[in-house]
Amino acid sequence: MSSLLPTAESRLLIGGKLVPGADGVFDTVNPATEEIIGQAANAGGADMDAAIAAARTAFDDTDWSRDHAFRARCLEQLRTALQAHVDELREITIAEAGAPTMLTRGPQLEGPVADLGYCASLAETYNWETDLGIAEPMGIKSRRVLRREAIGVVGAITPWNFPHQINFAKLGPALAAGNTLVLKPAPDTPWCAAAVGAVIAEHTDIPPGVVNIITSADHTIGARLTVDPRVDMVSFTGSTLTGKAVMAGAATTLKKAFLELGGKSAFIVLDDANLAAAVGVAAFSVCVHAGQGCAITTRLLVPRAAYDDAVQVAAATLSGIVPGDPADPRTICGPLISQRQRARVERYLEIAVAEGGRIVTGGGRPANRERGYYIEPTLIADVANTSTVAREEIFGPVLVVIPYDGDDDAIRIANDSPYGLSGSVWGSDPDRIRRVTEGVRTGTLSVNGGIWYSADAPFGGYKQSGIGREMGIAGFEEYLETKLIAYQA
Ligand code: NAD
Repeated sequence: MSSLLPTAESRLLIGGKLVPGADGVFDTVNPATEEIIGQAANAGGADMDAAIAAARTAFDDTDWSRDHAFRARCLEQLRTALQAHVDELREITIAEAGAPTMLTRGPQLEGPVADLGYCASLAETYNWETDLGIAEPMGIKSRRVLRREAIGVVGAITPWNFPHQINFAKLGPALAAGNTLVLKPAPDTPWCAAAVGAVIAEHTDIPPGVVNIITSADHTIGARLTVDPRVDMVSFTGSTLTGKAVMAGAATTLKKAFLELGGKSAFIVLDDANLAAAVGVAAFSVCVHAGQGCAITTRLLVPRAAYDDAVQVAAATLSGIVPGDPADPRTICGPLISQRQRARVERYLEIAVAEGGRIVTGGGRPANRERGYYIEPTLIADVANTSTVAREEIFGPVLVVIPYDGDDDAIRIANDSPYGLSGSVWGSDPDRIRRVTEGVRTGTLSVNGGIWYSADAPFGGYKQSGIGREMGIAGFEEYLETKLIAYQA
């Protein structure tokens, strides 16, 4: 493994330098083995302060925000350098996030790295100025030009579940748009971010202070980004509860808060769908990365007449998926991220039973795994959509199955949630599918297995799943201000 990447201890990136944390180090743990794999730099308040100052200076005192071609070149350089280190990054991602190897070939690593190329091309091809033509407001002939500009310093706060996908979905467009950035990753996955910091410092021309990376065991260090007046925008991905705190913090200086939050998405099987195929896919998808995905469809809605069959198919699929070592290329369901997260999932399973639910399969820790924060793929039946497990995000390999009566009832149940992130619809009749996709209030929807995830496709939530969109042109424009200049003609 290259000495560039953290093998025993990682560094912060502040003002272009890789530095230790003011508060020493903290452990990073392999969730598949429960072993400490090394230490990460533990930033203190002074480090965050220095990172914000560096980002501010890089934005205010350099040409970064105006030199679109240079930024495109830097992002391409970053992509190439990350690709050159992809196997080391993969090793870290598997060891630290418990991400199955299979997923590192796609959204857990290689996909988002490649997508930096999309951001680079946007920096060069985006229409930064639009001529609105001549008008005569108040009798004064004026030529109006609309200019898009970077917002300034972006504070990015990210979770642990898809560390690279989320870090790059912020870093790529924020830099392409001309901003400077302070990235504060989750304490569970500091190395994934620190490794990127090392690559930026050693292998790119990204100027000092443009990207700063602050790892810390202290969750509240991120809160400084929300309240600091030197930060112009906070870009947050995480739980809805924390998102509310971030928004409240951002309100103190009225900075823009861009929020990607939780979900409790519905998988609707219409009565003209191939039930076995659809339910099999629904059950399989809750096991991907042990269900630790915000957009995973965790509520399976089936026609009442097909309920018993659906329960049977889902249980058979879930019991056939054995949680395994994420380093094994065949594994789809690895461990949960931490002891705390497993305890949280187990608590939800207790609540399900206490509320009258039936655990059809799973419900415990896999017998073949003595170490690691594993949990069995689990099916909960006989609960209403009002139950706690149907309303709250569990973030484990847990599927809840609920019957409905007619398409309108399916739409009603899907929408009866504080969240509105994603969803799936399976059926045959295009008119019925269209009505359902029009009725469900979420930011993305898959029909019969269609994939909405890609660099040019905006992703985000309705309702308490967030504000704004990540990725695509919409995601890029989140990081831009709008300036209108009127010349007297
Ligand atoms: P979390 O909300 O606990 O933490 C997210 C980040 O916020 C971490 O970096 C954490 O250190 C930081 N943080 C915690 N308290 C803070 C505060 N008061 N001020 C500022 N920052 C603070 O979430 P998590 O457990 O790391 O991740 C899981 C959650 O993320 C789930 O709810 C999941 O749905 C959500 N998520 C959403 C998306 C999306 O795009 N919508 C994607 C992935 C994950």
